[in-house]
Amino acid sequence: MAAEGGKAAPILEARGIHKHFGALHVLKGVDLVVAERELVFVIGPSGSGKSTLLRCCNRLETPSAGTVVVDGIDLLDRRTDINAARRRIGMVFQQFNLYPHMTAKGNVMLALRKVAGKTRAEAEEIALEALARVGLADKADAYPLELSGGQQQRVAIARAIALEPRVMLFDEPTSALDPELVGSVLSVMRSLREGGMTMVVVSHEMGFARAAADRVVFMDHGVVVEEGTPEQIFGAPREERTRAFLRQLD
Ligand code: ADP
Ligand code: MG
Repeated sequence: MAAEGGKAAPILEARGIHKHFGALHVLKGVDLVVAERELVFVIGPSGSGKSTLLRCCNRLETPSAGTVVVDGIDLLDRRTDINAARRRIGMVFQQFNLYPHMTAKGNVMLALRKVAGKTRAEAEEIALEALARVGLADKADAYPLELSGGQQQRVAIARAIALEPRVMLFDEPTSALDPELVGSVLSVMRSLREGGMTMVVVSHEMGFARAAADRVVFMDHGVVVEEGTPEQIFGAPREERTRAFLRQLD
């Protein structure tokens, strides 16, 4: 849907987010507004609040202040059916969290049956299609322990996309993987992006950010220090804190 200036309407609109854990003020007024089909990369030092921000965007954490609207639904409104709203938000974590006693297909089918209320036959068809999209059509009957870490993470991605979310949140999806397995997961993420998925990605894969991100957001100590295109953030960062962070990655 075209809004002002020809830009797509935001799918995810988090504004003025604060989060306290006891005395710890972890997010200090963060805005994260993501347009349809946009891929936003969030980078920053460990402890800067990246995971907490993502978790606030699907209400795994409740912000202390601020608003979160996803696909027009106010996540913080008491009247909102949070489980229905969460179906629009896919989340992939560093740890894949697959059930070890269920096959790849079984893991994908579970959410379809429990969360989306699909019949077994419907769930199976959708699960097989989602596994094919992540390149695992031939692994549908494999158990997690029979799969590599990269394949397990792709099952986790299939489980999320099977629910047809409006936005996908990735929290360090490749950080637990051996280096040779990272590429297969990034290439699935790239194909999702090419398919028009709206995505927010927290990751240290700067090469992927340069190649695929529309916008890079740099966070430190609970605030957005600066944001811009990958060319601007990596090539000509304005803020000293950004420069210092990027320097110590080399
Ligand atoms: P990042 O993902 O950027 O590494 P996090 O969002 O995980 O940062 O953490 C930001 C800060 O909030 C850290 O100091 C962390 O210890 C703290 N924190 C995160 N979750 C909790 C929690 N559930 N309880 C208390 N402190 C937390
Ligand atoms: Mg984190």
